[in-house]
Amino acid sequence: MTVVAGDALMGTYRRFPVTFVRGEGTTLFDDAGRAYLDFAAGIAVAQIGHAHPRWVEAVSAQAGRLAHVSNLFSTEPQVALAERLRALLGWSRAFFANSGAEANEAALKLARKATGRTKVVAAAGGFHGRTFATLAATGNPEKHAPFAPLPDWFTHVPYGDGAALAEAVDGDTGAVLLEPVLGEGGVVPAPPGYLEAAREACDDAGALLVLDEVQTGVGRCGAWLAGAAARPDIVTLAKGLAGGLPIGACLATDEVAAAFGPGDHATTFGGGPIVCAAALAVLDVIEDEDLLANAREQGARLLGGLKKAAPALEARGVGLLVGVELTPEVPARQVVSAALDRGLVVTESGRNTVRLTPPLTVSAAEVDECVSILAEVLG
Ligand SMILES: *Cc1c(COP(=O)(O)O)cnc(C)c1O
Repeated sequence: MTVVAGDALMGTYRRFPVTFVRGEGTTLFDDAGRAYLDFAAGIAVAQIGHAHPRWVEAVSAQAGRLAHVSNLFSTEPQVALAERLRALLGWSRAFFANSGAEANEAALKLARKATGRTKVVAAAGGFHGRTFATLAATGNPEKHAPFAPLPDWFTHVPYGDGAALAEAVDGDTGAVLLEPVLGEGGVVPAPPGYLEAAREACDDAGALLVLDEVQTGVGRCGAWLAGAAARPDIVTLAKGLAGGLPIGACLATDEVAAAFGPGDHATTFGGGPIVCAAALAVLDVIEDEDLLANAREQGARLLGGLKKAAPALEARGVGLLVGVELTPEVPARQVVSAALDRGLVVTESGRNTVRLTPPLTVSAAEVDECVSILAEVLG
């Protein structure tokens, strides 16, 4: 029996009538034992697939050793994760939170304190979370309307237009907040040179460049960060970092991070031992199984396959963050639902884009199967 959200849950989701009970690699199983090919991975969360043995072992071992102490004390996994991220990226100091929105809240507070400036320039169509500040940062007026008044320090510019961005950034601007690829906004990669233009505008105005890599980071786009070339001052990570457990990370350069002192920011649960052990396992598996290369390779295979399967539609993406934009008369939900009926899990992004974000462990055979199911659904 499929359990559909009933009266005990708030109606914040339009859920599909499927209850998943188990996962293994790129496969999910529902409560009737039916197998599904998972090209959603949560929403780009199950970075190394479901129930990876090394992840299960790391989480179980840490749960049996120490699940929680206050951030008033150090724990080995949290320090190890911060050091690991610093070594991988070559520059970062970390604050760990519990979600993408919280990581962005930390970034906005840090940028405010480091610069003393209030204005933040972000992109129309960008997505940064659901808290009041991150909702205000999100470039979607429809989502703002029911919750007004929101913090009013955000200016939105068209995504991808370097000149418009440079014009909006001025001496009051503390931060420019951008995604390297619009993840929720229809899977729109930044045009070449755009993030570098943002860097230059920030340098000219004395503002900080904050990249929201909540969806694009941790190998999703075939590199640890999708926007490293723009030399951001602050980067946020979340979704894929702990492979399914709740985590957020606000990473900053030493210079910027120094603005936060004791009491400036805090969280009860953030950076707990179990999630940090999980994240370390995710990073280990990505390295040991060469998953950055696999993300690039399978991403190219997926994009190529989709272009061939649906030549009339625009397929685009970077690594394993891929979208197919449908024609306006076909709602993405209809395609997502038809794919689900055929045993393929995908998600919607933006108004009418189908988004594909399989685990970075995905195989060529699984990519081909996904493409053949979507060819049927779109054909
Ligand atoms: C999902 C997402 C967020 C919000 O993350 P939550 O964990 O849902 O708060 C923020 N920014 C981007 C780019 C995202 O994709």
